[in-house]
Amino acid sequence: GAVRTPLIAGNWKMNLDHLQAVAFVQKLHWTLKDAKHEDGSVEVAVFPPFTDLRTVQTLLDADKIPFSLGGQDLSPKDSGAFTGDISGAFLAKLDAQYVIIGHSERREYHHETDEVVASKVQAALRHGLVPVICVGETAEDLEKYGASAVPVGQLKTALADVPADADIVVAYEPVWAIGSGQAATPDQAQDVCAKLRAVVADTLGADAAERTRVLYGGSVKAANIASFMREPDVDGALVGGASLVVDEFAAIIRYQK
Ligand code: PEP
Repeated sequence: GAVRTPLIAGNWKMNLDHLQAVAFVQKLHWTLKDAKHEDGSVEVAVFPPFTDLRTVQTLLDADKIPFSLGGQDLSPKDSGAFTGDISGAFLAKLDAQYVIIGHSERREYHHETDEVVASKVQAALRHGLVPVICVGETAEDLEKYGASAVPVGQLKTALADVPADADIVVAYEPVWAIGSGQAATPDQAQDVCAKLRAVVADTLGADAAERTRVLYGGSVKAANIASFMREPDVDGALVGGASLVVDEFAAIIRYQK
């Protein structure tokens, strides 16, 4: 959609320590010199591990690198006796603008329910962070219920108490496509992304649906990004593996429709 700035987001997962992160971000920035993100026609965001955020933020600021920054998770709480957890307040203080919430790896390995995801969305909004709300069906869900039922249900719960003027991003990530090399087809991605936009319209209203970016994620590569970006309801990509390879991620950012 013309009103929405495409967002190419790199989820580093548990990769790149803070020293590797500096080298990576510098190299990516140099590789992208004169690319379209420099004129604001595409937004690039990186999601490093928590321990890298301070260093990466300092580098982005010092070298005026136009990447947005986000955390990969946050606590539903603001502070207190929650050993090992990271508050949205801490992320906001480091100038993170975004936070990934409900990634399938959090849902699987940390047993995050739709209700936990909803409380994290509230925490993000309390601290002025834009939640990147991840939803998607497993291979088993796909077989039982089809592609859209599970992600639609997940998004409805996540948006239950979100105000109409909230700034959010939705990421459709079929679990079977993550890290598998087997991406959804552009048709499949378009179909579910359109249904997720309809959930935003039903819960937050038509204006929110028009301005909210809905991303596709799952084995996005330089070779398939354009086919997704041609779909009217796909406003960008959440990229895992390919976001860790400078030339590959740069080529994704430079996609031509
Ligand atoms: C992800 O985990 O968000 C993801 C999309 O991973 P990959 O690109 O490696 O499939």
